[in-house]
Amino acid sequence: MKISRLPTHDQTNGWTNILEPRQSLPPLTDDIRVDMLVIGAGAAGLAAARRAAEIQPDRTVALVEAAKLGDGASARNSGFVIDLPHNVGADLDDLGTLKRSLRLARAARQHLDEMVTTHTIDCQWSRQGQLMAARSKQGEDVLDSFIKGLDMLEEPYTDMDGDAVRARTGMTYYRRAIHTPGTVLMQPAALVRGLGESLPENVSFFENTPVLEIDYGSKVIAKTKGGKISADRCILAVNGFAPFMGHLKRKVFTIQAFASMTRVLTVEEQAALGNPEDWGLVPAMAFGGPTMRYTMDNRIIMRSFWGKRQTDVVSSSDYKRSRNLQLQQIRDRFPMIQGDPILDTWTGQIGLASNFAPGFGQVRENVWSAMIQNGVGMTKGTMSGRLAAEALNGIDSQLLKDIQAMGNPEQLPPQPILSMGIWAKVKWWEWMQRSEM
Ligand SMILES: Cc1cc2nc3c(=O)[nH]c(=O)nc-3n(C[C@H](O)[C@H](O)[C@H](O)COP(=O)(O)OP(=O)(O)OC[C@H]3O[C@@H](n4cnc5c(N)ncnc54)[C@H](O)[C@@H]3O)c2cc1C
Repeated sequence: MKISRLPTHDQTNGWTNILEPRQSLPPLTDDIRVDMLVIGAGAAGLAAARRAAEIQPDRTVALVEAAKLGDGASARNSGFVIDLPHNVGADLDDLGTLKRSLRLARAARQHLDEMVTTHTIDCQWSRQGQLMAARSKQGEDVLDSFIKGLDMLEEPYTDMDGDAVRARTGMTYYRRAIHTPGTVLMQPAALVRGLGESLPENVSFFENTPVLEIDYGSKVIAKTKGGKISADRCILAVNGFAPFMGHLKRKVFTIQAFASMTRVLTVEEQAALGNPEDWGLVPAMAFGGPTMRYTMDNRIIMRSFWGKRQTDVVSSSDYKRSRNLQLQQIRDRFPMIQGDPILDTWTGQIGLASNFAPGFGQVRENVWSAMIQNGVGMTKGTMSGRLAAEALNGIDSQLLKDIQAMGNPEQLPPQPILSMGIWAKVKWWEWMQRSEM
């Protein structure tokens, strides 16, 4: 089948733009045969290729990426390696699912931790945990449910009043926050770069090599512009492009998230904030305000959703709208910052299922999917990639059982009802959660 849509990553990712320029690896220009083909070099594909190569060091693995290493969502995100699900307090009857999520996320975090240490990946890896913050009574109610969930899971936390939040972050904007220690913060473009540059020797990694056509059979044949790969086995790791690979059609959808990064704050601005250590903050209600970072190098990152676009093709007015929104959010929270501090605004794709189930599993006898991470791909993507490689090698584990027990994406309504429904739902959530904006 022909792949009818390819990614169109823009080049505005602030995380990448502050790194040293890098020479990408050459694209595929030959016909090759490999044991394992992995398509897509985000968190999922990088983890899948590494694990497949580790399990069978004498076999060959090809990893192909449509764009450059670090062009996809995995290098554009807010840099939270999240262990606790955001909705811990929402469904206390389903402790089994929460515990499974926790096991999977912590295994992923541990793996990434080991990679950062073993390969000395310089990515501002920081075990600061995260703050879930509220500014209204409605938001505080959500924090109270979150605490109930944490108590039931016997997870540690610190309940911080407004003064404590100000002392930690420099902001007077929030009246309360719950700090949980398990989340790691990092620079996502630097992490992805480090992971891609430290793959085992039996992985051949081809950048700027979009798969244009794929045939599934006893061998998987993937055609690219300059060559062809014939593989005994294959892992699909293309995130929201899953349906264009012939899988999860009408079961998954995408929304675009936007993020902005500021310049390094001046010494005076840092002092006005109280010279804080780096921190990461998520809003009590996911659509009720921005996710924020204060980085080790004294920048602010803001992230918000934009449900109107369900493709990665966004217009200049989408960027402008998001930039203006994020500039206002910075000014509301950090009045001490002078002028317009935003350096870059970028967008990235979030692959979702309506029931938030992973798009993980067996597609055909020799093909597994590690796609659709429902917005928390640094842990879920990493784990789905590793587990897909293990499953294809016949390795069973508690973690494989955990991810399989998370269910499968449900059928979606047809277009245009789907797009209208997503847009209406996002608007509804934003309106319901407006007290937190
Ligand atoms: C602004 C923003 C903030 C976010 N914040 C967080 C956060 O703090 N923490 C978190 O865990 N998650 C966050 N997310 C979500 C997270 O980034 C994603 O869930 C995760 O990156 C998905 O990883 P992946 O490997 O599945 O997909 P991707 O990283 O999207 O990788 C898929 C790759 O497949 C490639 N591809 C597609 N089609 C083809 C083809 N035909 N041939 C070859 N290659 C192809 C793409 O180019 C892409 O590089 C955020 C996302 C955004 C956009």
